[in-house]
Parts: sequence; structure tokens; C-alpha cells
Amino acid sequence: MKGLNATHDPARRSWVDSANVPGADFPIQNLPWGVCSEGDGTRRVGVAIGDRILDVTALEADGVVEPAPGRRVFGDGILNPFMALGPAAWSETRAALADLLDAETGERGLPLVAQADVQMHLPIFVRSYTDFYASREHATNVGTMFRGAENALPPNWLHMPIGYNGRASTVVVSGTPIRRPLGQLKGPEEDAPRLGPSQKLDIELELGAIVGFGNPMGQPVTTAQAWEMIFGFVLLNDWSARDVQVWEYQPLGPFQAKAFGTTISPWVVTREALAPFLVPTPERALPLLPYLEERAAYNLDLLLEVDLAPEGQGATTLSQTNARHLYYSAAQQLAHHAMSGCAMETGDLLGSGTISGAAPDSRGSLLEMTWNGRDPVEVQGGTRTFLQDGDTVTLRGWCEGAYRLGFGVCAGTILPAPEAP
Ligand code: MN
Repeated sequence: MKGLNATHDPARRSWVDSANVPGADFPIQNLPWGVCSEGDGTRRVGVAIGDRILDVTALEADGVVEPAPGRRVFGDGILNPFMALGPAAWSETRAALADLLDAETGERGLPLVAQADVQMHLPIFVRSYTDFYASREHATNVGTMFRGAENALPPNWLHMPIGYNGRASTVVVSGTPIRRPLGQLKGPEEDAPRLGPSQKLDIELELGAIVGFGNPMGQPVTTAQAWEMIFGFVLLNDWSARDVQVWEYQPLGPFQAKAFGTTISPWVVTREALAPFLVPTPERALPLLPYLEERAAYNLDLLLEVDLAPEGQGATTLSQTNARHLYYSAAQQLAHHAMSGCAMETGDLLGSGTISGAAPDSRGSLLEMTWNGRDPVEVQGGTRTFLQDGDTVTLRGWCEGAYRLGFGVCAGTILPAPEAP
């Protein structure tokens, strides 16, 4: 298979025993990147291996790995300087770390910390955040609800990945609480809007693509070049206030309904690690303009799951789907984004848009699962149409093949709305 090398060898085992347990998210073939801190709060870059983290900031300081000769890229405890080096350095470093952790060739005694003993932080400085709308099933469901089945897909939808420029400032790492937003609300029978806490607080199950290095302003890229620019992927929950959205979104699209919080998982699973799990995008309903055509498979065969746990209760799995349903891949999203000459930069985050499958139990938002509140879903101790205060939503993702490659979790708990100022 194209793009595979020794780091993808299913036979490899690590001397870190927990990495070899069947079903573990982080075997030696994964090596996702994250940022953690212990007691003194100093942020360190590391890769997950089993239930441990290999401290790559320490390895670089000791000269064991040297992605940029003569210069430290992990010293600031953030991935951006390493990402800016580009794919050759990413690949060389991954190969070196795999050799260090290998049961045959590795060196026991490397700086490891237990994941249970550290706090995880945002792995990247998020330069900008763009959110797409790349699932045909999601766009069709939402369009059917609000415009009717005849006009479900907007006329542009089958020709380009639709997106909007979101907020980078409120992208947070898994585990960060999310405060219910205040916003303008106006029911269809009400004459005027009022300010209040959103009553239709929702989730969006998405895949986040992280841009490792950018394109200069004014210089478009092909889908193949766009794919090379992507460092890796995270799970992403694009929290959404549907009642705010429905009143504010015309004519410029979502604004405050999406600006109050976006949660990403702490581990960036690299594009290289995902090479064995690439699949083509679904069949095209209409031919695309040549700049959006793909000459290789850039979608991920990635199983996804949404769990909801009310406060003090166990979790219920509400939905299971797969990122392979996305009509537009991250490479197509990025190529479209740069086509105008828009400069993409190290640390840009692209949300895929809600990922829904065709089956009712594979929908990626409560809006769709409950059909805008009409059909409540069952959770422990009750039912839900939209989120209540105290609810915890957890996204999970994993690829399954010759081995399992997990993304870990992307979780957040809803806090009550603030007082209006
Ligand atoms: Mn979204």
C-alpha cells in the first residue's frame, strides 16, 4: 500500500507493555502527539504509547532526537514549531521514536510519564479555525428540517465544500467545561427577540484536520499538495446553539451560535499513522471542477461514537458513524480554502462539519437524532432533546485493521449559563 513504511508494520511491539494490549488506542504504530504538564506546570511535548507518554521535549534536550539540527522545536511545549518543519522532519522523527520504543531495538529507561498523572493541554496554538459542512447526510437532514426535502441541499453544495470562518480563541482541549451560551432567541410566534440561555444546546461530531505548514497568500494548492500540508487529525465537538443559530444565520451564516466553544481531543493522530486506513470519498453525484478532484484516497476509515452521560449517571451511546461518509475530504476542504489565495498557516484547524451516516443511529448531532426535538432520545435516568446542564458528552474514534489506532476521547461537560451582564 502506498505511503507505508516500517512504522506501520503490524508485527512491531513496544517494550511499554500497555501499548501491546489488544484494543489499546495507542500501540507503537500510532504515536500521536500531545502536550502535557505535571506538578510544576511546565508544558512538554510528547507522544502517547500505551498508557504512558514519551517526553519528546526531554529527548530533544538530551540530543536523542533532533528534528531541526542546531535548534530546539519542542522547548516551548507546543507543536507548532515542529509542524512548521514539514513532512520530511515529521516522518524522520516518527521513525526515530518508533525505533526507541520498539521491543527489539528500543532503549528502556527513556523519559516516560503515566497519562493518569498529567494534565493535557491544547496540543497546538490554533492559528485560525474554519468549519466546513462536508457530510452530505448531515446537510440533507438539516436542509430537510428547515427547507423541506425538495430543497434539502443548497444549489452550491455538490460543487464545493461549504464553510465559514470560526473562532480560534474558544477552541479548548478535552475536559474543559463548556458554559451554556446566552444569545438572542426568537421563536416563530414571538414578535421580538429576547436575551436568554440557549435552550437548544447541541453537539456536532466532527473530525478536525490540523494544517502543519501553509501556502503563501495568493498561491493556491492542489488536493495532493493540500494533503501534504496536513499534519494530523483530532476529534472535534463543535458545540452549537441551534435556537441562536436559526435567528442569526441569515445572510452571513453562523456567528454566536458557534463561537462559544469548540472542543478537540488532546492527541493529534498523524496523517502518516493513518496511511493504512485511507479510503476514497463517496461516489460523486456531479463531477467536480478539476481543482477539487482527488487522485488518491484521502478519506479516513475512522469509526466514531457519541456518548452522553447526565450528571451523576452512566453514559449511553447515542450514535455510531464513520468519517468515510464525508463527501469532501480534508484535502478537498483545504484546497478549496486556499483556491482564492487565502493563506493557510501552521496551526490552522479545519472542522469537517457534523459527520452523519445514512442510518438514524449514525447521526452526529442531537438536532438530527431528535429531529429538532420531536423525537427525544433515551439516556440514563431520562430523555434528551438537547443538552441539559451537567451533561457530559464524550466523542471517541478509532481505526480498525491489522491493529487498532485510537484517537482517545474528546469530552466536555455543560455548565449553567452566566448571568446576563
Ligand atoms: Mn460545525
